[in-house]
Amino acid sequence: GLLPSVKEPLFAAWNEGRAKLVKEALADPDRYVMVQVAPAVRVAIAEEFGMPLGSLAPGKMAAALRRLGFDRVYSTDFTADLTIMEEGNELIERVTKGGTLPMFTSCCPAWVKYLEQTYPELLPHLSTCKSPQQMAGALFKTYGAKVDNVDPAKVYSVSVMPCTCKDFESGRPEMKASGYRDVDVVITTRELAHLIKDAGIDFNALPEEEYDRPLGLYTGAGTIFGATGGVMEAALRTAYEVIAKKPIPELDLKFVRGGEGVRYATVKIEDLELKVCVVSGLKNVAPVLEQVKAGKADFHFMEVMTCPVGCVSGGGQPKALLPSDRLCARMARTESTYRHDAQLPHRKSNENPDIKKIYKEFLGKPLGEKSHHLLHTSYTPRRRKA
Ligand code: SF4
Repeated sequence: GLLPSVKEPLFAAWNEGRAKLVKEALADPDRYVMVQVAPAVRVAIAEEFGMPLGSLAPGKMAAALRRLGFDRVYSTDFTADLTIMEEGNELIERVTKGGTLPMFTSCCPAWVKYLEQTYPELLPHLSTCKSPQQMAGALFKTYGAKVDNVDPAKVYSVSVMPCTCKDFESGRPEMKASGYRDVDVVITTRELAHLIKDAGIDFNALPEEEYDRPLGLYTGAGTIFGATGGVMEAALRTAYEVIAKKPIPELDLKFVRGGEGVRYATVKIEDLELKVCVVSGLKNVAPVLEQVKAGKADFHFMEVMTCPVGCVSGGGQPKALLPSDRLCARMARTESTYRHDAQLPHRKSNENPDIKKIYKEFLGKPLGEKSHHLLHTSYTPRRRKA
């Protein structure tokens, strides 16, 4: 219907609790507050301030976060780039050395939880990479604290996400690789907009600002994680280069882009025919998983996103009241995501100068010991609650 559902007031009350935690942290002089914002947030938040659906606003959002008082304004797009380095190498290892295939992406925690509950026997197929949110959390209180010369115990780690399943993920007991809780609080796009309004900040009048470095510099590959097919496209751009040792001839891999459903593609990289599958909308994944279970799946790598067209359509994003506007919003946010990708000076994760730097200064190499400890995880079969 056109009216807000009766559940809205309850949801709003629950939301306020998280926003309050953020406000308290920002007001506490003993805390050093770092924030990360997911790729999908920058193509949606401006809608809350009356701008057209899908307006691209990374710079105004960075400025707003600074006005709110965050000590470091970072971006999850940086750790999306890092995910590509880790997950791409994991895929190449599994393909060349004979690991469990097909490999599944692990960046959508609702999908990970679904697999843990419904297909626990397929858990070895999941990439061991943490989601970009949790990678960022683990780095804020280690490398990030070191770069800024602050006591990691004082760092408070805030995450702005397009959905609330990221909150469940941040509370998993294993997500304390830094020695502290890696992500202290998760708020949604709508909640961030609320905080900005509440602080009396005129979002539309803000200048365009940059994200802080090193954990906020990102490439086009990192930002397309927000749209379905984006992780796959980003992975292929880098995997091609790693395997073929030359740049990929075409950066816009339009064959993996698209709407809801299941898509298959084959990419020829030298002698390797890499077969991939992209699924968006969780309802579409069961038949594919049944194929995997039966040993009939004919692909190496599968991306799964729970939301209809990926994170741009997440449940924590601004909500249009009219169903037709909801569809337009999805399309406009997807279009902005790819426009942002095309505008950025670097479009491959392996070309991000600060990704190169973090490997050199801190992590060593992809899949190395430090990466294993901070950036990878393991999964638990779970019983579905009745
Ligand atoms: Fe969250 Fe949806 Fe993105 Fe999954 S696809 S991480 S549920 S917004």
